[in-house]
Amino acid sequence: MALVTKSIKGTQDVLPGESHKWQYLEQAVLEQAKNYGYKEIRVPVFEHTELFQRGVGDTTDVVQKEMYTFEDKGGRSITLRPEGTAGVVRSYLEHGLFNEPAPMKLCYTISCYRYEKPQAGRLREFHQFGCECFGTQSPAADAEVISLINDIFTHLGLKNYDIQINSIGCPECRKTYHEALKAYFESKKADLCATCNDRLDRNPMRILDCKSPVCSDIAKDAPKVTDYLCEECENHFTSVKSYLDAMGISYQVNPTIVRGLDYYTKTVFEFVSTEIGAQGTICGGGRYDGLVEEVGGPKTPALGFAMGLERLMMLLKAQNVPFPEEKQCDLYIASMGEAANIKAAQIATDLRQEGFTVLYDIVGRSVKAQMKFANKVGAMFTAVLGDSELQEGKAKLKNMESGEETEISVEAFDEEFMRISINESLKELTDLGYETDIDVNSILSGNLF
Ligand code: ATP
Ligand code: MG
Repeated sequence: MALVTKSIKGTQDVLPGESHKWQYLEQAVLEQAKNYGYKEIRVPVFEHTELFQRGVGDTTDVVQKEMYTFEDKGGRSITLRPEGTAGVVRSYLEHGLFNEPAPMKLCYTISCYRYEKPQAGRLREFHQFGCECFGTQSPAADAEVISLINDIFTHLGLKNYDIQINSIGCPECRKTYHEALKAYFESKKADLCATCNDRLDRNPMRILDCKSPVCSDIAKDAPKVTDYLCEECENHFTSVKSYLDAMGISYQVNPTIVRGLDYYTKTVFEFVSTEIGAQGTICGGGRYDGLVEEVGGPKTPALGFAMGLERLMMLLKAQNVPFPEEKQCDLYIASMGEAANIKAAQIATDLRQEGFTVLYDIVGRSVKAQMKFANKVGAMFTAVLGDSELQEGKAKLKNMESGEETEISVEAFDEEFMRISINESLKELTDLGYETDIDVNSILSGNLF
């Protein structure tokens, strides 16, 4: 029994008291991406395992150690997506989106699955917001995605994060770099961890990404990729930096950033914070000019990023960034007796159509208990409907904050309630110091503009 009432290690629930924060975060992030011309794409949670082997890369930790892979009942090897890019590239190819005018800008909010050791900022099910931009090799595009992430963070009210960028070149310049790296690490072989010893032959650049303190210490003095860039890659990187300078975006060049996935080329970047512990990378991305071809499509330069939403949420909370308050209950109608209960349901239905949050009793509580509940849900207004109110055609509407009571017609309840509620909101705006010449009649008639 204990097993079924416990969530799986490394997963977490978002409870009702928190979900409005997630809705706000997801919406705010998406809005910024839309300002940059991104359109949302939705892809499946699972794909053929081979897609990730090719799209993420066989030598990566993700593919080697972290994937949730299983055989389905038809004997196919299936993997729960560990990241979003591979699935989006697959969809881009499958639906011929490369035939549309470039750039094709796609964004997504997804759950991801990685079998990792759960700790603060590291989960087995986590969420990413990602953007992919296909069909451009211009450095302007690299600077633009960095600017988008910066806008997202700024808009959310985040402070104190670093933008670290690097260029890891193209397969051409990387050949000589790999050799230099290999020679360097070969000389330190005895001190490297077992995994890095393995990486030495397969992909020495991976060692730069190792989280072990000994390996990352050794990596500090390793040859720097920026010293090995070919002319084209060098010029590209210089141009990305000029764009960022012109856009007023501060960054640091960090030659140890290589990113976890295999197909990155040229620009790579991370947005890092020191305020949420060891897992401080909130967002990472870069250019992956070789990936579309690797997955079987036409040669297509592309780039993108993925943002860890749990880490972003942790940082927002660590910095005490205010979230908008959750929409409260506008009106609670307490009722007693069959006829009044039905009237309450009718009024609630009408007002909900107008966008108000209206609750009434569907549990069968006493009026006293209903009022207690209204208090608990923070109702702005309450009204009590019973036999006498129905007979007289009048009820009392109570403003729960001021205690003020107004008589309101039962027949014209919705219209009178809207008038009172809107007036109250306008009063609040004036109290907050906003000047407005909008009045309740123009709102009710819909003639605002
Ligand atoms: P890390 O170095 O932290 O393992 P990564 O290089 O594996 O990150 P990416 O594959 O680039 O991460 O994923 C992009 C972002 O997704 C990360 O910067 C991070 O914010 C988030 N992320 C990655 N793995 C996890 C995880 N297991 N739990 C929570 N968030 C994660
Ligand atoms: Mg990782």
